[in-house]
Amino acid sequence: MRWWGWGEDGHDAPIPEPAAGLLREVLGTDGSVRRRPVALEEVRLPDPRLPSGARERLAGAVGAEHVRDDREVRVSHATGRSYPDLVRLRSGDGSSAPDAVVLPASADDVAAVLAACVEHRVAVVPFGGGTSVVGGVEPVGDGFAGVVSMDLRRLDRVVSIDRTSLLATLEAGLSGPGAERALAAEGLTLGHYPQSFEYSTVGGWVATRSAGQASTGYGRIDELVEGLSMVAPAGEIGSRPLPASAAGPDLRELLVGSEGVLGVIREVTLRVRPAPSASRYEGWWFGSFAEGREAFRVMEQADASPDVARLSDEEETRFSLAFASGTGAGTAARLGRAYLRARRRESGCLAIVGFEGDEEDVERRRVRTGALLRAGGGMALGRRPGDLWLHSRFAAPYLRDELLDRGILVETLETAASWSGLDRLYRATADALRSALGEREKRPFVMCHVSHLYRSGASLYFTFLAEQEEDALAQWRAAKQAASEAIVAAGGTITHHHAVGRDHARWMRAEVGEMGLELIRAAKERLDPAGIMNPGKLLPPPE
Ligand SMILES: Cc1cc2nc3c(=O)[nH]c(=O)nc-3n(C[C@H](O)[C@H](O)[C@H](O)COP(=O)(O)OP(=O)(O)OC[C@H]3O[C@@H](n4cnc5c(N)ncnc54)[C@H](O)[C@@H]3O)c2cc1C
Repeated sequence: MRWWGWGEDGHDAPIPEPAAGLLREVLGTDGSVRRRPVALEEVRLPDPRLPSGARERLAGAVGAEHVRDDREVRVSHATGRSYPDLVRLRSGDGSSAPDAVVLPASADDVAAVLAACVEHRVAVVPFGGGTSVVGGVEPVGDGFAGVVSMDLRRLDRVVSIDRTSLLATLEAGLSGPGAERALAAEGLTLGHYPQSFEYSTVGGWVATRSAGQASTGYGRIDELVEGLSMVAPAGEIGSRPLPASAAGPDLRELLVGSEGVLGVIREVTLRVRPAPSASRYEGWWFGSFAEGREAFRVMEQADASPDVARLSDEEETRFSLAFASGTGAGTAARLGRAYLRARRRESGCLAIVGFEGDEEDVERRRVRTGALLRAGGGMALGRRPGDLWLHSRFAAPYLRDELLDRGILVETLETAASWSGLDRLYRATADALRSALGEREKRPFVMCHVSHLYRSGASLYFTFLAEQEEDALAQWRAAKQAASEAIVAAGGTITHHHAVGRDHARWMRAEVGEMGLELIRAAKERLDPAGIMNPGKLLPPPE
């Protein structure tokens, strides 16, 4: 991945003219390129400060060629891929770079690296694909003699595939495409497709409780973990792969979502399925976000949800259609407009539903779901909007680089609540973002979609855009703080799938309570007595 953005050079996503026009109209920006990233040589890096002897110990653990501290590798491990991360990198701020990047290839390598780091008081940051958007991989070395990033890309083996039990044991550093390729060769799939799929890893997904775009059907990653193994500074710990057990509290639940603060997940056994032989993606249109949400609730509670279920609010619908106009979704826009005219309404909402399975199963489910959506006020738009969404499902992050070039703040955040509290949460979060970003003067664009359905509730995913201010980081911090406070006050979770990292740590007290924090701290003190594992993440400082 290029060090200052998303994807590789040559895979840029130009902004189509209708969308550029909408941005000019809504945000008041002129669309010209204003801020290109500095050259790699201009990134300001602190001098590496590993204590004497530590580098030799690390080289002894993994081989000298797998301890790297060249400029490119340090810069590319300095941050994750959130908006503030990219703002800092693009402006040449590499101050958070690790002293070195260590690349182990086995559990023994990992244990040896951790032992060396304990001995030399060096902090360790597990690094999967580095796609964290909450500061999860940012090296924090305060109070330590140094900090290393432990890049897990060499731990990428397929350990075993059990077709009979539908289980696959994969090493943590295997990337999304690597995992799906190996499973496809056996006619299987995990079905886990976060938008960061191309670059994120199995271990990163499990460490952050990630949700994929098809998680309504396939389940979030936490529901797909049968067992896992972790190397902690104090020793190995894990949860045996078992379909169920009544043997006390579930250790798996402690290790999943531990975000590198307890140890390094080295291997995971995941529940897989036969690869689907058929799929069908469709667009639907609702008169309003509230109407669509209610239809989705009824569908979910009737056990009739598709595998992919997304409903955009009015603002996101407008934005998506502008980006997609001239393509299949242009049809959706025309049909949507006809729907609105017939009902004398001014705006509406686009939904995407997707079914995967065998042909007969897809057809049966589609008919039942369609009847419920229609009864809830939905109008079918056919396959083209659905297929278009499917083919562009990983495109948005590439577009973010283009928007940053044009001096536009573009960021996302997510939460979840029960159905009865969802509308309040939606309004409170959107209002907080709009007022923090200067509703009148700056005209921010705040949009939202529902993308993960549960019997008791759903997630809300916000995307917001605004003209970048001179101090882009202060502008982002104000918006993030306002939205997080509104989410907590409205009873939502501080994170539905992006995890806690550094950015959400101070809201963990509200999430799990003081005693909950103490329990997690006690587990950390036992597994990581020297406190070297990913400092500054997940847990807020004690009050
Ligand atoms: C454009 C974009 C789109 C995204 N879309 C989604 C989405 O649809 N759904 C979603 O859930 N998330 C999404 N994310 C967030 C991110 O991709 C997920 O959190 C993902 O699970 C991180 O995986 P990774 O391999 O990149 O982990 P990293 O970013 O490398 O690490 C994330 C955290 O896990 C820890 N960690 C990583 N590997 C291990 C390990 N083996 N053992 C212990 N700790 C470890 C790290 O220390 C860090 O705290 C998106 C991010 C971006 C930039």
